[in-house]
Amino acid sequence: MRELPAWLTKGFANFQRRFVSGEDPSFRHAVHFGQSPKAMVVACADSRVDPALLFSARPGELFVVRNVAALIPPPEEDSGFHGVSAALEFGVVTLQVPQVLVVGHSLCGGVRGFMGQVGTDPKSYLGRWLALLRPLQEEFPELGACEEKEVGQAAVKLSLRRLASFPFVAEKLASGKLAAFGLYFQLDPPNLELVEAIP
Ligand SMILES: [Zn+2]
Repeated sequence: MRELPAWLTKGFANFQRRFVSGEDPSFRHAVHFGQSPKAMVVACADSRVDPALLFSARPGELFVVRNVAALIPPPEEDSGFHGVSAALEFGVVTLQVPQVLVVGHSLCGGVRGFMGQVGTDPKSYLGRWLALLRPLQEEFPELGACEEKEVGQAAVKLSLRRLASFPFVAEKLASGKLAAFGLYFQLDPPNLELVEAIP
């Protein structure tokens, strides 16, 4: 059997020093008593926008699903493999998180790919995924000439609308047991903006 790459071994040793034998009880607590995250986060897979680092979260605090461009698909009752929708159901219904955050960001390869019309090739997984952004073409007919920030924030709003259209989410929003926030993380200069909130 091949050995783990050195950076993995070292990184895990750091984790153990901090959370297994160290003073921070968050990981041990979440393992012993079960997880009770304070929020669910839908974020981009981009290596620069890790929600745990961004919000200084400790183990057990965030239930995270990441994908290209931080998109939420609409509810679909077909036999497809709906990973994001399944994660939403698990977070909202099973874990009963009180907040869902959708975190878009600047310099997003997914949003840029969509804007450049190169990312909607139906023959690629990425293209079919980014086709989720197609409703934005009505709002921005001249997509290529738009500000990336405008399109990125509109993508966050679109995901929030879709989030609220899942019946199990709508029910929690209506009863006040859930709040949803759309955020936009500007990388340079770093800044966090509230785009929209429900309710
Ligand atoms: Zn991105």
